[in-house]
Amino acid sequence: MGLLSLGTPLPWSEQKYSDHVRQHGIQQFLHIWKNTKDTKGNLLLWGDEVEYMVVSLDDKNKRALLSLRQAQILKALEIHESEVRKYEDEHHVPEGDRIPTFHPEYGRYMLEATPGYPYSASFDDLLNVEKNMNKRRAIAIDHMHSNEFPVTLASFPRLGAPGQFTDPYYPPTGPASRSFFLPDELINPHARFPTLTANIRERRGSKVAINLPIFKDKLTPSPFIDPTIPFDRKIFPEDANAKDGAALPDHIYMDSMGFGMGCCCLQITFQATDIDEARKLYDMLAPLSPIFLALTAASPAWRGYLSDQDCRWNVIAGSVDDRTEEERGIKPLKNNKFVIPKSRYDSVSWYLSRGPEYRPEYNDIPLVQDEAIKKTLQDAGVDDALASHYAHLFIRDPIVVFSELVDQDDATSSDHFENIQSTNWQTMRFKPPPPGSNIGWRVEFRSMEIQLTDFENAAFAIFIVLLTRVILSFKLNFYMPLSKVDENMVNAHHRDAVLNEKFYFRKDVFTSSDSLLNVSSTGSETEGESMANSECSSECSASDELCKTRSLPPIEEEYTLMSMDEIINGSKKVSGDPDSFEFPGLVPLVQSYLDSMPIDVETRCRLNAYIDLISRRASGKLETAASFIRKFIRSHPAYKFDSVVSEEINYDLVKTVEKLTKGEEWDGVGKDLLGGITAERTL
Ligand code: ADP
Ligand code: MG
Ligand code: MG
Ligand code: MG
Repeated sequence: MGLLSLGTPLPWSEQKYSDHVRQHGIQQFLHIWKNTKDTKGNLLLWGDEVEYMVVSLDDKNKRALLSLRQAQILKALEIHESEVRKYEDEHHVPEGDRIPTFHPEYGRYMLEATPGYPYSASFDDLLNVEKNMNKRRAIAIDHMHSNEFPVTLASFPRLGAPGQFTDPYYPPTGPASRSFFLPDELINPHARFPTLTANIRERRGSKVAINLPIFKDKLTPSPFIDPTIPFDRKIFPEDANAKDGAALPDHIYMDSMGFGMGCCCLQITFQATDIDEARKLYDMLAPLSPIFLALTAASPAWRGYLSDQDCRWNVIAGSVDDRTEEERGIKPLKNNKFVIPKSRYDSVSWYLSRGPEYRPEYNDIPLVQDEAIKKTLQDAGVDDALASHYAHLFIRDPIVVFSELVDQDDATSSDHFENIQSTNWQTMRFKPPPPGSNIGWRVEFRSMEIQLTDFENAAFAIFIVLLTRVILSFKLNFYMPLSKVDENMVNAHHRDAVLNEKFYFRKDVFTSSDSLLNVSSTGSETEGESMANSECSSECSASDELCKTRSLPPIEEEYTLMSMDEIINGSKKVSGDPDSFEFPGLVPLVQSYLDSMPIDVETRCRLNAYIDLISRRASGKLETAASFIRKFIRSHPAYKFDSVVSEEINYDLVKTVEKLTKGEEWDGVGKDLLGGITAERTL
């Protein structure tokens, strides 16, 4: 969550400022863009965000509940932080050793923590990440009750299940969510969050409806008609939804924003040297987002049931889907402007960079754009690609507008811009510099699920940072059509996708389309010898997009389906096997980058422990958290093979996760998840 604006939020019926916010938001962006578009030479800085669920453990009754003490815990943390910061300032403590910061999140049982200062690109800083994450968790624990613990579960298995799942108990429903299953009291009470919840529902015209396929176990009834849905209850007008078909047979039905925004993720933000490098990183990381969603899969259980999918992403997409029936294409357009194919929380639909690797065929998803906004941007000098990006984000309405903040100075504020930007929750976020700061253009990688241990979270954060270095140093090219990235996104959710799914990936990650043009024009392997092409020689340059399209091999030849093991660990051509092919693999690419760097043996060993986790998870030698949790539930003595995650199973799972998080491996539990890796590492 970004900074929280303060004031009186307008209910949806009184929110008449959508165009005002959009127009001023774009003006605010233009001020930022004009001031910073030519800034060069910013250093790589980066940071992660770790989200936690605070659980309250009732050992006597074997219950793990979600503690709703966020406000008290954050207050205590804030007092501690300001005292420590004062000391750090007085004693000139180096930035890397400074106290981490804690932030509120949507759920009143959630916390988010980031390092106190962004990390640099140094290897020392990489090795500091896990220590920093350990420190965050330890500080959080110090400010909790003795029966509370910050677990990093991506989804809480019994959120919204019958009975008690919060501490203290509140009966389900409330005016904001009108949920059958969740009390409004589990929403962060800051005015922004209940308003966001209510306004999404009201803009949509109904409650959100999320249906996850149930995992059909040996004794799960078929068809599965969920007995915990109060089909006949009718307090609010929307309550007819479940009865009228919003809840599907054979599915786990969820009807409130909390089911999605109450999940935990791991996000990484990088600062690029300039706007062009940020655009390039955005494009190169976008095709990786489904790959790392599948690799970090950690959410197999929902509302007290095992689901037949492993990831949270599409639950959040459904949980904040504020599109009206017209926008969803169910009714003809009358009051709305656009039919919009995706939720505000979804995968990216548009590549941003126009470097030599780019081909227009990669942007193959129809992009809904606000033409007036695009024209405003273009008239101000913004290029077509970037103008289209914002003309797309700005098709959305601002969901929460604070009456005190309607009028702003567009030269100094970014509040209206951020209002729309930060409620476009895509797999990648392109983050312009905040006005008046010395912060550069940044990109955020947002698809990953939070992992159970700091070791795993550090491993994924470090690996993504290293990948950005490899992409830039080796000039890697991961482009493929976004429609294929979207197919990968769907498949990444599937149960055990790491083992069973194939994902589209670019075959030749070293070749840009321009270098292909050069080769095809001269018949030689030498890059840059000639830009001319037989078809294009006189009329156009190699940067002419149409010309490129005509001259290059069909786009379908650029990518193929690969297993996760092939993408991450590489593959070799086997003589006599026409289906085999050579692919370098992301881990070997990272390793050869590290080979080219002056690194001492100890640092390299420690980095290798993190990289190994990624490699072994991709090859199936280690399992995902989703697989670990599913197996734990299915092998629990109280499990009845009916897909139900009972309170007792949930409690034992949370206790087990607590132990794993603390680094306690016992009786082989967690061995398939972490292997011997944790034991080898030295912090
Ligand atoms: P949001 O919730 O809007 O994504 P946060 O402030 O919670 O943003 O997290 C942003 C992350 O970016 C943090 O890990 C922070 O350390 C890191 N960060 C801060 N400043 C920079 C910077 N200049 N460049 C890159 N990362 C930064
Ligand atoms: Mg967050
Ligand atoms: Mg944040
Ligand atoms: Mg973030």
